[in-house]
Amino acid sequence: AAKAEGKRRVVVFSDEHRARVLRAVRVEKELRAALEREELEVYLQPVIELDNGLPVAAEALVRWNHPERGLLAPGEWLDVAESSGLMPRIGAWVLERSCTEAATWPTLCDGAAPAVHVNVSARQLDEPGFVDEVRRVLTETGLAPERLVLEFTETYLDEVSDTLLADLAGLRRAGIGLAADDYGTGYSPLTRVIELPLSMVKIDRGFVSTMLEDVRSRAIVTTLLRLSEALGLDLVAEGVETQAQADELKRLGCQAGQGYLWSRPVPAEQFRAELSASISPGSR
Ligand code: C2E
Ligand code: MG
Ligand code: MG
Ligand code: MG
Repeated sequence: AAKAEGKRRVVVFSDEHRARVLRAVRVEKELRAALEREELEVYLQPVIELDNGLPVAAEALVRWNHPERGLLAPGEWLDVAESSGLMPRIGAWVLERSCTEAATWPTLCDGAAPAVHVNVSARQLDEPGFVDEVRRVLTETGLAPERLVLEFTETYLDEVSDTLLADLAGLRRAGIGLAADDYGTGYSPLTRVIELPLSMVKIDRGFVSTMLEDVRSRAIVTTLLRLSEALGLDLVAEGVETQAQADELKRLGCQAGQGYLWSRPVPAEQFRAELSASISPGSR
């Protein structure tokens, strides 16, 4: 019986493995075609200032307009893009598209136009030309460096080389914002945020969604708020879905939030239209 079971396990494993490989091959092929056919699109989700409800920024989130399967969120294909080496190309496209779009946004009543947040993947960050690429895109689109925030997931910021660290510090000195994304989900010590040239921390959705019921989540949120305040970092709470969460975050001293409570990610034209409507007289 043990032998038969062992055999069965091997079969199960290889079927799964085979399916995984086949999926990766298929998705990679389709993704290459998608780049040619320009099927990728940048969606935008506002980052809201909790004090006044105004969008201080918008995060660019890539979507794939698949000819048969419809609009695909990155969860369904970004891993393949990353492992196949297509990510630097996709990332460069998202950056250029996002900055071009942000350059057209109107200024709000406080005199500043919203910033744009762009996610940067591990492979993209590894590219030797990454920092030059960022500077080139800013020059070409005319977007002020202060209006760009690059988001890096905490887990791969651990592996950053000294050279890259110096490059990132250079971007920061030029005025570009650098954010630790999904903060609290990795295993890096809290002190990591001191060593990196960050300007912002984004608390992971997992803590925000449970902070009202779970004292441990709440403790993490409170700690990150204190830490970022002490270090002069901006803080954004991700995945805010209820008014009760927003109220509590505000009470705890959090400046900004992002989530379905205010808006899902929307097409760029829609974001621009809503922005214009929100500042036109008589709209509020
Ligand atoms: P992320 O950077 O942490 O982005 C936030 C994700 O949470 C987005 O998922 C967004 O749609 C979702 N979200 C926002 N508010 C809520 C909420 O209130 N409730 C819930 N349940 N979800 C919310 P999305 O667009 O599917 O993106 C998933 C991840 O894919 C992103 O997580 C980011 O890591 C990655 N990603 C997206 N676009 C890009 C890109 O252009 N480049 C790179 N490198 N990664 C990207
Ligand atoms: Mg992000
Ligand atoms: Mg995030
Ligand atoms: Mg995430």
